[in-house]
This record gives sequence, structure tokens and C-alpha cells, in this order.
Amino acid sequence: MSVRIPFDNSYARLPDRFYARLDPTPVEAPRLVKLNAGLAAELGIDPDELASPDGVAVLAGSQVPPGAEPMALAYAGHQFGYFVPQLGDGRACLLGEVVGRDGIRRDIQLKGSGQTPFSRAGDGRAALGPVLREYLISEAMAALGIRTTRTLAAVTTGESVWRETRLPGAVLTRVAASHIRVGTFQYFAARGDAEAVRMLADYAIARHYPDAARADNRYLAFLDAVVAAQADLVARWLAVGFIHGVMNTDNCSITGETIDYGPCAFMDAYDPATVFSSIDHAGRYAYGNQPRIAQWNLARLAETLLPLLGDGEAAALEAAKDSLTAFAPRFQDAYLAGLRRKIGLATAREGDEALVQDFLTRLAEDGVDFTLAFRALADAMQDDAALVALFADRAALDAWLARWRSRLAAEPGAPETARALMQAANPAFIPRNHLVEAALAAAVEHQDYGPFETLLSVLSRPWHDDPALAAYARAPREEERVQQTFC
Ligand code: AMP
Ligand code: MG
Ligand code: MG
Repeated sequence: MSVRIPFDNSYARLPDRFYARLDPTPVEAPRLVKLNAGLAAELGIDPDELASPDGVAVLAGSQVPPGAEPMALAYAGHQFGYFVPQLGDGRACLLGEVVGRDGIRRDIQLKGSGQTPFSRAGDGRAALGPVLREYLISEAMAALGIRTTRTLAAVTTGESVWRETRLPGAVLTRVAASHIRVGTFQYFAARGDAEAVRMLADYAIARHYPDAARADNRYLAFLDAVVAAQADLVARWLAVGFIHGVMNTDNCSITGETIDYGPCAFMDAYDPATVFSSIDHAGRYAYGNQPRIAQWNLARLAETLLPLLGDGEAAALEAAKDSLTAFAPRFQDAYLAGLRRKIGLATAREGDEALVQDFLTRLAEDGVDFTLAFRALADAMQDDAALVALFADRAALDAWLARWRSRLAAEPGAPETARALMQAANPAFIPRNHLVEAALAAAVEHQDYGPFETLLSVLSRPWHDDPALAAYARAPREEERVQQTFC
């Protein structure tokens, strides 16, 4: 059964120096692990065709479907603060773009599809564990309503990859609004290729921020829009306890989508200094540092755009500074709005910030699970037993609850409205690290995909509490707690 993917490629119309054209490397024995049939349908692709042997061969990189123009994209990036002038898709291959039913153009990319001119010392491959991890977490983020790349499929290759030990190889099919990163702009700026920076900016504006094209200075409007998108995104991350783990500029999408799931994790007990990534020794990308780092990354984007931002160097610098200065208030507004919803407030009042901050302080002091605490708060309107059980300092909690109840009483809506608001803002289910690790281990070590399937399905409905699924909602026991995540 041949696979029809309605490709409509635009990045391939950009000049040669934006990418290297090459086919993915065929694999030994492609086998479908999981197909996201709903997403396929949204993209105008028949899921049955994708699940057929020819479809699986496409998803593994063993066959190139009609209309694809496979290529590895060029980009640079600051990794942990240090600039690397050439990174690029070292193990990924953009097949092409499709315009979905919603009219939105999206990239279809294979990750783990073999070596490219950008591979450096890497093997170009991906191991099954990290592929399943990206599948679970990206789809969980989408279900939480957070902008993210999506996962269309995971296949195993029948080949081994070596990562200190022998592991089963896999390929993930990623769907993204695009793969333009801050690092893509840096790649050209670092080469003094002003023409390419301008072409890339024009392309990004046309594809992602068409409103900016109507502004007096389209490039400044573009920067403003990316600043706003990143501020909103990071505010959403913090509201669910998400820690990206590797916020390098090459992992920072100008579209405002979460991209490149590596050693990412969701926080259990609330602590802004939380770090899981095994490669983040200094805690640069700790939970609470993420807004600051996003702004730092945006400053690197602004630098690449300077020649386009104003008449003369001084004016351009001034414009860039103003644009970047807008990050902090934009983030703070989005973050506070999110926290208000989390404690059931539909309206804004003086003192709300202190109120919610004091709740977070209670969580930090008592080492309380972030997700459970907010979920239990919704129920605490009627019965606070479950909430109280989470805290060590009962008196301090009671004092806070009294302030919260009197603030809630000033809300115009009925108590039920506040409760519904909280239940819609506070997920019951997040990808708990210990559950993710267990699902990956079962698949990798025992070819048992049951735990992965079940977890994926639980995470697709994060708001719908269900007593039968209590094991997926609870916090890890001390001995279950994951200390480190690896990429
Ligand atoms: P990441 O840490 O996944 O964001 O990747 C950083 C850079 O390393 C990118 O240029 C990747 O393409 C490259 N890279 C990561 N893993 C591999 C691999 N196994 N083979 C080749 N390149 C890789
Ligand atoms: Mg080229
Ligand atoms: Mg990356």
C-alpha cells in the first residue's frame, strides 16, 4: 500500500546553504511501535497507509515517499552558554511539510534517521527509551494545552545503538510548526551572512507571524512576537511543573512551541531549584531559572537581527533592548494569570500575587507535591482532608486557607465556578518520572509496551480524575523518586 502524504514544501525553496539534502539511512527491520492515528488524520494522512509495511518503511527512513524532499537543516547554538557555530540536524531528517486540516503548515521530521553532514562524532541514531520518552511527554504537553511539537509515530529499527551499553534503535516522527530555532539565525549571523538572516526572518514572518509583515519595522515586530510567544510558553511550563532540561538556543523554537525533549521532567515536590538533567551540573536550566534563560536566549536572537532592527546601530540597539525588556512583564502577567486560575480566581485583585506566592512557599517549606497540592485545593473548597494530609505544618496551612477562602468569597461567580476553574487549571495526571521510567524500562528490557500504552492513554486525558487511576496520580514514594534523567 503506497503512502500518500500531501507534501507542500517551502523550506526547500530557500537557498542551498540552509540545509543539506540527503535521504534518511535505511534500517534493517522496521517495526511499528505506536502510531498517532488522530494526528495523522489531522494532517490529511491515512493512518492505515502509515501502518502498512510501506508506511512503516517510510516512518523508519527506509523508503522516501513521493513528494518528500529530505534534508538535514543547518543551525548553530549556545550550549550551556557556549557558542557552537555549527550544530545542525545530526540525526534528523526533514521529509517535508504538509498543510493540515486546520490550515496550518507543519514539518514532518524523522529523528534518529542516520548520519548527516552535521553528525560530527555522532551515530545519527536514537535509542528506543528516549524516543518513547519524547512520545509520552510531547503528547502529554499537547493534552495539557501547552504548545509543543507532536509525535506522529515511533518505530524500532531492528538495529542496535551503543550508549555505554547496547540498546534497541528507534526512529521518532516529529511534527512541528517548523524547526526554525534561535540557533538557525545564529548559524547565519555567525558567518556574517546578513542576506541569509534577512531571508530566514522573512520566511519566519510569512510562515509564523504574518501580522508582523504589516508593521513599520517587520523585523522588530517579529522579535516582539517571538519574545511574547516564549514568555507565554515558559509561563505555561511553570504552571504544570515542567522542566525542559536543555534550554540551549538550538532547542529554542521561534514558533513558541516546546521542542527537543531530552532529559526533561516534571517536578514532584515543589522546589524552584529542581534539576533532573544528568548533564546540567550547574543547575543552569533549573525549574525556576527557565524564564531568565528564555530571555537570555531571546537576547541571542535579537543580536542576530540587529542589522535589521533600526536605522543605525544605536537605534537598533535601543529597539532590541525595548523588545527584550517586554519579556519580564509579559511573562509575569502570564505566570500570575496561570497561578490565579490554579487557586480558583477568575478576577484580579491587589494581593493575589502574595496570596499565591505564600501557598508556593508553604509547598516549598513542607516539600509538598506540586501537582497534588493544587489538585487537592480544588476539593478543599468542600473537604480539605486530602489537602491537609499533604502538609506537615497544619497551623501555617490553616492560616493560608483562611486567607484564600476570604479571597474566594470576593469572587463574583458561584463556588462551583471556582472549583471548575481549578480543575481545568490543575491536571490530575502529569508524566510522573517514576511512571515514565517504568514504562520505558518495560519496553526496552522486556519488549512489553503495555505500560507505555496505558500511560499514554492516561496522559491524553489529564484533567479527568478517575479513582481507578489513582496509581497514576499519586506522588512517588521515597524509593520510587527519580533523581536524574538522561538524554
Ligand atoms: P540535542 O542535544 O538532541 O539537542 O542535540 C544537540 C546536537 O547534537 C544537534 O546538532 C544534534 O543533531 C546532535 N546530535 C545529538 N545526538 C546525535 C547523534 N546520536 N548523532 C549525531 N548527532 C547527534
Ligand atoms: Mg546545502
Ligand atoms: Mg536539539
